[in-house]
Amino acid sequence: MTQPSSKALVPFVSVDNMMRLIHHLGIEDMLRDLASYIEADFKRWELFDKTPRVASHSDVGVIELMPTSDGEAYGFKYVNGHPKNTSEGLQTVTAFGLLADVYTGYPVLLTEMTLLTALRTAATSALVAKHLAPKGADTMAMIGNGAQSEFQTLAMKAILGLKSVRLYDKDPAATAKCAQNLAGLGLNVTKCNTPEEAIEGAQILTTCTADKQCATILSDNMVGSGVHINAIGGGCPGKTGLAPGVLERAEVFVEYPPQTRVEGEIQQMPEDFAVTEIWEMIAGRKTGRRDRSQITLFDSVGFAIEDFSALRYIRDRIKDTDYFVDLDMLADPDDPRDLFGMVQRAKP
Ligand code: NAD
Repeated sequence: MTQPSSKALVPFVSVDNMMRLIHHLGIEDMLRDLASYIEADFKRWELFDKTPRVASHSDVGVIELMPTSDGEAYGFKYVNGHPKNTSEGLQTVTAFGLLADVYTGYPVLLTEMTLLTALRTAATSALVAKHLAPKGADTMAMIGNGAQSEFQTLAMKAILGLKSVRLYDKDPAATAKCAQNLAGLGLNVTKCNTPEEAIEGAQILTTCTADKQCATILSDNMVGSGVHINAIGGGCPGKTGLAPGVLERAEVFVEYPPQTRVEGEIQQMPEDFAVTEIWEMIAGRKTGRRDRSQITLFDSVGFAIEDFSALRYIRDRIKDTDYFVDLDMLADPDDPRDLFGMVQRAKP
């Protein structure tokens, strides 16, 4: 990375600029490219510093920091999860993130990550489904039609060739919103009144609900053989959506076991419950789906390396564009040790 110039400014991508960038790049191309960046980083998994995210829980939600480094760059994301927020007109999940140069320690990018999280989570789901969904899977049940749902659906379309989506949410207004947003984007969209109706004929079952409790979104008798479950709504101790019987029948794939055992669907299972890490599958060291009858489950909670890949991607894409503004975040005294003297520049 570059050495700091005399006046180091930090590129900042606002929500407004991220929205413009999504239109400029095209959302499906962006999801495919993000999946490639995530795939490349998971292939070099062993290189990264890894730690479960640092979580601060309250009665109403959680605030988390998600750091990692590949030795050259360092990234972190600040993210919250507050299911009650939507009833107050606020997002359940909002985030921002930073990428820094390990050599100087200087930040090289600050960006909104609420949209970027939805994109990278969807790209990760589809990347994993590429290895695990049954061959020819073209129909997905999307249970939970909130902020993540359209992104999840479009990533499955862009990366897997999904043709149909069957929507269910306990709030019909969320389903109506999702159906309207997906209209005209080249998918057959069906609004369903029950989760049972939503999973009819679907080979991929995505659960993406927000509720700070152990709910049963998918019960054991709802899950037939051969399906792939993409469970992305976990991510919190005391919050699960699948019946334990489903986990017992499935081959479970996770991002980073020390984090998923605390936060994921597998928090319901014994500590030594067998799981496969997705990086091993992505790097070709472990098999994904073995046969047509197997139930596969991606117990997704979101891991720091996915955010790191997304930060790298945005850093690369905004070069020579106007999709960012420069922030004056770094002190630049003429003599590095004369920080006090630098203050005198602003003397009235
Ligand atoms: P959101 O609040 O916008 O949407 C959640 C939807 O779930 C709402 O429409 C709600 O009505 C619905 N819902 C709640 N309980 C339900 C039930 N029992 N049956 C059907 N629908 C139900 O939230 P969001 O931003 O879409 O996030 C959804 C979940 O995904 C959250 O738990 C969030 O933490 C998680 N998430 C995970 C990752 C990851 O990397 N795995 C990333 C982002 C978000």
